[in-house]
Amino acid sequence: MEQISTNNWAYMHFALIFSITCAQMLVVYTLAESSKPPAGLGLYTVYFMASLLQWIALTLQQNSGVEMGVDLPSVIAILNSYILVMAAGQRVGIPRGRTLLGAVCLAACLSVFFLPRKTMFLIEALAVGVFFATVAGLSGWRCWRQRNVGDGIIASAALLMTLAMPLAGYYVVADSGSARGENLAFAVYTVAYSLIAIGFLASVLIEYQHHLSHLATEDPLTRLLNRRGLEDALQVSMAHARRHDLPTSAIMVDIDHFKQVNDSFSHEIGDHVIRQVAEVISRLCRSSDVVARTGGEEFLVVLPDTELNSARVLAERIREAIGERPLLVDFQRIAVTVSLGVASSNGLVDLDHLTQEADRALYLAKRGGRNRVASVESRRVHLSTANGPGSAS
Ligand code: GH3
Ligand code: MG
Ligand code: MG
Repeated sequence: MEQISTNNWAYMHFALIFSITCAQMLVVYTLAESSKPPAGLGLYTVYFMASLLQWIALTLQQNSGVEMGVDLPSVIAILNSYILVMAAGQRVGIPRGRTLLGAVCLAACLSVFFLPRKTMFLIEALAVGVFFATVAGLSGWRCWRQRNVGDGIIASAALLMTLAMPLAGYYVVADSGSARGENLAFAVYTVAYSLIAIGFLASVLIEYQHHLSHLATEDPLTRLLNRRGLEDALQVSMAHARRHDLPTSAIMVDIDHFKQVNDSFSHEIGDHVIRQVAEVISRLCRSSDVVARTGGEEFLVVLPDTELNSARVLAERIREAIGERPLLVDFQRIAVTVSLGVASSNGLVDLDHLTQEADRALYLAKRGGRNRVASVESRRVHLSTANGPGSAS
C-alpha cells in the first residue's frame, strides 16, 4: 500500500482526474446532441482540456525529474482560470470584463519569465484568486436566478479556490522551505476541479430536465401553454372555483381563413402571424387568466372568477385589437381577423365540457360570417356582429 501511495500517487491522481473529465464530457456531449447545446459548452470544454494539460505538466514536473525552463503548470493554471471566467460569463450571458481580466491574465503569465519561482507562485495564487472570485460571483448569480444547484456547486468550488489560493501563496512566501503552501494549492486545485466537473454536469442535466418538462407543457412556436400545460395551470383555480362556487369562463379564438395566409405568403410567415396573434391575446389578458395554444391557429383562454359578460367584453377587445390594423410581418402587411366563442360555467368546472361549449360558440361565430364574437350560456346563444353586439340562437 505504501508503495502505491508514495511512488505512484501522481499517476493515480491523474488517471482519476482524466476519468472524471472523460465521463463527464461524454454525458454532456450526448445530451447536447439531442437538444440545443448548453450555453458555454465550448468554453467549458476548452477549460477541461486545458486542465488536463495542466495536470499532465504537473505530473511530469513532479515525477520525471526533468527540470522545466519555465513554471509551465503555473502558466497553464493562470490561463485556465481565465478561460473558466469566460466560460462562466458565457453561461450567464455576460461577456463584459473580458478585456480587463485578459490583461491581468497576460501580465501574470508573462511574469513567469522575469520572476523567481516563489514570487511567481504568489502571482499565480493572486491572479487565480481574482479569476475564481469572478467565477464564484457569476455562477452564484446563475444558481440563484435559474434555481440550478449545479451552478451552486461550481460557485462553491470557485469560492474555495478564492479563499485558499492567496493563503497558499502566503505560506509559500512566508513559510520558506516548507511545502505547506504547495500542498495546500494542490489539494484545493484537485477538490475544486472535481467539483467544477460535477457541477457543470449537474447544471447541464438540470437544464435539460427543465427543457424536457417545458416541452411537455409548452408550445414551442408561441411559448404559450399547450393543452396539458393548461390543465396543470388550472388545477388550483378550478378547485378554488368549486369551493367558492365561482364562475369560470372560456374563450376559444380561431384565426379566420388562415389557410389562405399560408397559401398567399408562406408557412413561415404563417408561423409569424400565429406568434403575433398569441402576443396580442396574452397582452390583453390578466395574469390570472390562462392562455394556451390548443390547435394550429386556435387558442383557448380560461378566465377564472369571471362572468360570461366580462369574458365577452375581453373577447370583443381581442377581436378588435387583431382586426383593427394589418399585422406587420417581414415588412409585409397582412390583414388578419379572428372569430371567438365564449362560454361560462359556475362552481364545479368540467374543462372538457367548457371547451366544447366555447367551441360550439366559435362554430356559430364562423357560421355568422367570421370576425365576430359568439357566446353560449345554458341553452341561450348570444351572437355579436363585427359592428356591435347582437343575438342569435
Ligand atoms: P376558418 O376561417 O374556417 O378557420 O379557416 P381556416 O383556413 O383558418 O381553417 P382550416 O382549418 O381550413 O385551416 C387551418 C390551417 O392552419 C391549415 C394548416 O395548414 C394551418 N396550420 C396549422 N398549424 C399551423 C402552424 O403551426 N403553422 C402554420 N403556418 N400553419 C398552420
Ligand atoms: Mg381558422
Ligand atoms: Mg381552426
